[in-house]
Amino acid sequence: MIRVAGERVSALFALAESEARRRPTGLADRYVRLARKVGMRYNVRLLPEYRELYCRGCSAYWVEGRTVRTRLRSGHRVRTCLVCGRVRRASIASGSTAAPDLPTSADPPIAEAVSAAVELDSDEDEASGAGEEE
Ligand SMILES: [Zn+2]
Repeated sequence: MIRVAGERVSALFALAESEARRRPTGLADRYVRLARKVGMRYNVRLLPEYRELYCRGCSAYWVEGRTVRTRLRSGHRVRTCLVCGRVRRASIASGSTAAPDLPTSADPPIAEAVSAAVELDSDEDEASGAGEEE
């Protein structure tokens, strides 16, 4: 059952992505909301790459330059949701696998702090890659 839920989450994010490309708003956000619901219902954690794709505040599917703004600032990647204004910060410091100093200045709730710790790992891979921000 859990595996099925994971597949549904993947399918929903795939739908959200294609929908977001076709139209500015609407269905993509709904797919995100559904995917999050499925994940919660079956207690499935969304993959880190999926968690990068949407806003936690309003479930908007993030399209760079359209629904989210990404800025790099003193070792942090700051992403601002253009729909609800929620800000997310992730460290992009690379080279160290030591535990980063959490929580950040954003002082997120516990649940978010935990998943933020997971995000930091994925961000290290990204940092070494080409800058697709902006
Ligand atoms: Zn938002």
